[in-house]
Amino acid sequence: MKEIIEKFDMENLIEEFERLTKDAENVQKDTLKRILEVNASAEYLQSLGLNGRTDPESFKACVPLVTYKDLEPYINRIVDGDVSPILTGKPITAISLSSGTSQGKQKFIPWNDELFETTVKIYQTSFAFRNREFPIQNGKALSFIYSSKLSQAKGGVTVATATANVFRNPGYKHAMKALQSPGCSPHDVIFSPNFHQSLYCHLLCGLLCREEIQLISSTFAHSIVYAFRTFEQVWEELITDIKEGVLSSRITHPSIRTAMSKLLKPNPELANLIHKKCIGLSNWYGLIPELFPNVKYVQGIMTGAMEPYVKKLRHYAGEVPLLTSEYGSSEGWIASNVNPKVAPEFATYVVLPQIAYFEFIPLSQLDGTKVELEPVGLTDVKIGEDYEVVFTNPAGLYRYRLGDVVKVMGFHNSTPKIKFLRRSNLMLTINIDKNTENDLQLSVETASMLLAEEKMEVIDYTSYIDLSKEPGHYVIFWEISGEASDEVLGECCTCLDKSFVDAGYVSSRKVKGIAALELRLVRKGTFQKILEHYVGLGVAVSQFKTPRCVAPTNTKVLQILLENVVENYFSSAYN
Ligand code: AMP
Repeated sequence: MKEIIEKFDMENLIEEFERLTKDAENVQKDTLKRILEVNASAEYLQSLGLNGRTDPESFKACVPLVTYKDLEPYINRIVDGDVSPILTGKPITAISLSSGTSQGKQKFIPWNDELFETTVKIYQTSFAFRNREFPIQNGKALSFIYSSKLSQAKGGVTVATATANVFRNPGYKHAMKALQSPGCSPHDVIFSPNFHQSLYCHLLCGLLCREEIQLISSTFAHSIVYAFRTFEQVWEELITDIKEGVLSSRITHPSIRTAMSKLLKPNPELANLIHKKCIGLSNWYGLIPELFPNVKYVQGIMTGAMEPYVKKLRHYAGEVPLLTSEYGSSEGWIASNVNPKVAPEFATYVVLPQIAYFEFIPLSQLDGTKVELEPVGLTDVKIGEDYEVVFTNPAGLYRYRLGDVVKVMGFHNSTPKIKFLRRSNLMLTINIDKNTENDLQLSVETASMLLAEEKMEVIDYTSYIDLSKEPGHYVIFWEISGEASDEVLGECCTCLDKSFVDAGYVSSRKVKGIAALELRLVRKGTFQKILEHYVGLGVAVSQFKTPRCVAPTNTKVLQILLENVVENYFSSAYN
């Protein structure tokens, strides 16, 4: 009976999705009306003279496009405990702390129950489509999820990461129960204050019920790769724990020790089996299916800044499919992957028209010549065009410029299917050169092929503009596996330089308006230190994104990088 209900629910969900996406234009109007009506008493909206109007035309005429900076004074009042209706009708009692790793600055984002509902809706929608292609039956999930620290702002508002706000919602377990396979890790492991200890125990919990694990997931793919890189370091210790039924002394947190002691008992047979499997692998290729023989897929956000980790993930996953999940942010969800069989590199996301009111600024308007930006509506976007995403959500963000650039790849019924391209802020620029995080990613991908020939890989990378000497130059930091020769690294450096094909960069390099690109090799573990630095600031490991360009103001990250440089190389291109 239970299975029938679950199946029925899932089909219902897909039907609802089809109905709403067929009528996206009207659904958008209704969504906007709902948001504006519920929040009509908010000071922000009152001051803009909408006077009860909820139609898109009046909305666009009265409400300005904003960035986080514009809303910051309002949000700061909420954080400081002002409970008057500032941005929303009902007071905001929780704040999500965005990772800030892509933009360099953590943001405080209003969080409320309506955002929780949209989160559940998007998880359920993606799950329904995923489950249609890859059904999970009576299995468990190994989910590398970590709840960040919860804190109380001085005004009493709870501050946590968006993922922690989701997990701690009393409705979360219930809402997800029918759809998700239960996680294999106890609550105390997820909510541990120490992510290293959580991660170790997540791995241990997964191994203890290895046959039951049918899916492996995290919010962003980085955490899954990070988890299996950690496995490479600690596998023997994990096996000892299983063999002896005693938890490693590295786990010191009492609540985790208590929770894990309920699961652990001596199991030499399982320990031997896992040991045999591990030593039988070549360079850990296919580790995931070897450890978890019934795993159906690996799932997490794998596009955008996560794409550089897909190769490594595929190495661990062997033949197991990699599924990218949703597209969203701490500010709110945007779209769902309804074609899970498509490889992450080609994946698109379908915008859910009922979860927010969406607008799109054509990228051509952002070249600096247009005085007034004119975003288009959700159903008016054009296939093949690039846009910056703007949304109005039920938690007090109105015409909010998210700072992401997407390409419209097609339509699902009448709602667009988009591909995430990049963050909109330009990253690498010295004079007339303009290189985005995609250009950097492509350059690193190309150069790392030279390393791959030597059976080595780039573990992680970032960049920096060095203006300490005239002319300035690009610096790229690499952490690599293995030991590459100076010759190979020198070639990689020149290749990095040559792979930036932006006309402004190439011409500046040729006339020495930009000096030779520098590759700085950093010690193993440097990027882990950067991750730890962000975790210390309250970022959830599962939301972490390596900053791809470090601003001079980001002194701590810069210090970590500079202290760990072991070698540097200069490009010989354009000599
Ligand atoms: P945060 O609010 O810190 O979780 O970060 C949200 C940002 O992560 C978004 O604005 C995007 O830049 C990025 N992001 C989220 N989902 C995806 C996705 N599916 N593909 C690519 N980038 C994504």
